[in-house]
Amino acid sequence: MRKPFIVGNWKMNLSLKEAVQLAGDIKSESAGVKNVDIGICPPFVFISSVYDVIKGSSVILGAQNVHDEDGGAFTGEVAGFMAKEAGCTYVIIGHSERRHVFGETDEFINRKLKKCVSIELAPIFCVGEKLEQREAGKTNDVIGEQLRNGLKDFTADAAGKLVIAYEPVWAIGTGKTATPDQANEVHAFIRDVLSTEFGAKVAGDMVIQYGGSVKPDNIKELLLQNDIDGALVGGASLKADSFLSMIKTADSL
Ligand code: PEP
Repeated sequence: MRKPFIVGNWKMNLSLKEAVQLAGDIKSESAGVKNVDIGICPPFVFISSVYDVIKGSSVILGAQNVHDEDGGAFTGEVAGFMAKEAGCTYVIIGHSERRHVFGETDEFINRKLKKCVSIELAPIFCVGEKLEQREAGKTNDVIGEQLRNGLKDFTADAAGKLVIAYEPVWAIGTGKTATPDQANEVHAFIRDVLSTEFGAKVAGDMVIQYGGSVKPDNIKELLLQNDIDGALVGGASLKADSFLSMIKTADSL
């Protein structure tokens, strides 16, 4: 039985004061939530302060990115073990903004995923097609390639440690959400690829989140789909009331 996992990706937003306030509100207002795993991914510089707010609660802390090396001359980068030491248990890897704004390749993403699994920092591995790829009927080809390249040389045991997030690039921050059917079709395809690569048991247990303009008014229909196990939420995770409303909807399903 897969438990819904809803994660807020705060991206490069909020002041320290706002981040601490938001984390505190999420912690206190989600105390009674039993049926949903809740995560928040603040900007790096706020991670320790947010950790101090949420420690002892069931809210999970994640980073938005890490490097694949343990240390060295990589100005501006953060190693996975550093994020772990600061209190993170998850990290978003391969987000479309990392791929398309910062030029991250499948090979780099593969190295990061391997590093994270090796240090027990659980990756939320993002895949997603661009609009022109969807319109050209290439969605499954693109997603299949991102998955196979990202998970190259993974054992079934290692793959089972990941969460996958399907985030169509055309739906991120645009207000356009994939319809529940469109999203579920890709989720089912992802699970098929995972099943072929790692076996039905591992694939059946893996949480596959949907991301792309998820909001309080569309999360229910998305979560009711068979293969959608949660959400990676950007914009609507930045306000306590909208994030908590989505958590409560998920908790009630
Ligand atoms: C995201 O940050 O991964 C995302 C899906 O953003 P938004 O919810 O704003 O589309």
